[in-house]
Amino acid sequence: MPSYDYRCKPCGRVFTLFYKSYKDYDAASPVCPQCGSSDLTRLIRQVSIARPSPNLANLSSGEMLSVLDGGDSREIGSLFQQVGDSAGVDLGQTYRETAERLQKGESVERIENDLRAQAGDADE
Ligand SMILES: [Zn+2]
Repeated sequence: MPSYDYRCKPCGRVFTLFYKSYKDYDAASPVCPQCGSSDLTRLIRQVSIARPSPNLANLSSGEMLSVLDGGDSREIGSLFQQVGDSAGVDLGQTYRETAERLQKGESVERIENDLRAQAGDADE
């Protein structure tokens, strides 16, 4: 399932849109969720979690941070949930907790802080 990050030129809002297929993407005319402008720049994302693979189970806290970077909590949360559902593997406690917290509407900043703390403990 393709997903793309956009930055709104007029207001600077960064957000992610998800499409069921590349055909849907071609047909879509994305607009900014904040100001409604269609003057958008597509951003290149470093970590694509929209492409489920067994590696997702090993997605580190640091990698999750780059996914979380700039976006709406609930949008990202539902992406996490979708990926978790479609991956068919146990993505780990951190992943599940992050998805749940996002979907409850917890702020990305707060979750980021927690993940940063975990990344500091767990990553080399
Ligand atoms: Zn905007």
